[in-house]
Amino acid sequence: MLIINATVVTWGPPVRILPDHAIRIEGDRIYDVGPTAALQERYPRSRKMDARSQLVFPGNICAHTHFYGAFSRGMAIPGTPPQDFPAILERLWWPLDRSLREEDVRYSALVCLVDAIKHGTTTLFDHHASPNSIDGSLDVIAEAVDKAGLRAVLCYEVSDRDGQDKADAGIKENLRFIKRMKETPHRRIAAMFGLHASLTLSGATLQACAAAAPEGTGFHIHVAEHEADEYDSMAKSGMRIVDRLENHGILRPETIAAHCVHIDAREMELLKQHGSWVTHQPRSNMNNAVGAAPVESMLRTGLKVCIGNDGFSNAMWDEWKAAYFFHKAAERDPRRVPAGDLVQMGVYNNAALARCFFPDASMGVIAPQVYADLIFVDYQAPTPLTPENLPWHLVFGFPAGCVTTTIVAGKVLMKDRELTTLDEHEIAARARQLSKRVWKRYEEQFRQ
Ligand SMILES: [Zn+2]
Repeated sequence: MLIINATVVTWGPPVRILPDHAIRIEGDRIYDVGPTAALQERYPRSRKMDARSQLVFPGNICAHTHFYGAFSRGMAIPGTPPQDFPAILERLWWPLDRSLREEDVRYSALVCLVDAIKHGTTTLFDHHASPNSIDGSLDVIAEAVDKAGLRAVLCYEVSDRDGQDKADAGIKENLRFIKRMKETPHRRIAAMFGLHASLTLSGATLQACAAAAPEGTGFHIHVAEHEADEYDSMAKSGMRIVDRLENHGILRPETIAAHCVHIDAREMELLKQHGSWVTHQPRSNMNNAVGAAPVESMLRTGLKVCIGNDGFSNAMWDEWKAAYFFHKAAERDPRRVPAGDLVQMGVYNNAALARCFFPDASMGVIAPQVYADLIFVDYQAPTPLTPENLPWHLVFGFPAGCVTTTIVAGKVLMKDRELTTLDEHEIAARARQLSKRVWKRYEEQFRQ
């Protein structure tokens, strides 16, 4: 396929904006990039796709999400509003994830995948929980991802919060899926080992997970999202969370520590020493009122901070916008988290993280031999658009729904806003039926 008449945004580094360019795709990779006229001459018989001067970016990446949360939209929490994050977990997320059955897991994922394609998010790191439907749940999600045509890294979040049997089943599910991905690799799907959070994991369970996870397997865990997680860790182990995780061998070069809102300088240093990744989810942090993660300090420490969405919409540029405004408001300082930091986290660090799991080619840049994960963006800049000011156009100008076409591994998943792999109406209709039953199971837990 030959994409012609594109305004190619390479991201780089350095960022380049190349008007009237073409991209030749072969298989799942970019093969050639150059001026439209030159490439049309070079590949005269290639099937053409006209970008009509739209901006063409590498697909966006989400470093931390929860497909299982899709049915929470519009769901009422019985009683008085939860007063803090631990109460939100106990009254919203845990009763919700306990209400999911296999078909709910499938459609909850599909709802998120439709949303990802529509918003140009082409790679997602999912952190899954469904304590009453654990066995095979990762296969169900993998099947949905495969059908959608997206790229994803999957895991099951092990927790002691529902008892020993569920913790053991969670470990088993991670190991089974890791083995499956090793024996029959999928070009667009990879596995991690999921852990919920220090506050719902005993030392024995952490030890069992570290012993069981094969070398080279990263853990994906929530870290210090709320200070209660730190207090719990100190009460249980006499150590702060990251020290505790290090002690149990959880910090690996492939490990993702989501949030890290309340870690201290030593914990940052430990994460850096082990080469582990941190993800920032500003919309979630604001919604849960857990505080603003010390993103600038972490970046200055040399930590690899990425951007995720924690189950919010898969419009990753909305997450950028939230990060841009959140820290300014939190610190009452308009200089906080400049747009360059957003590019560092949301483009370069996210792509480097993704590459750990899809090592055959690069991502996050438009160049030959890179995976052909591309999105078209319809944006009419009212002022000069330059490589230097692009991030500010993005934060202040790119409208919602500006992504018109999404391509992953060379396959078109959405063309001119029409989905090609998933039926959005069928998925939404079925999800509405299923979510009614999920809400009923959820509410029943408050009557006991
Ligand atoms: Zn999360």
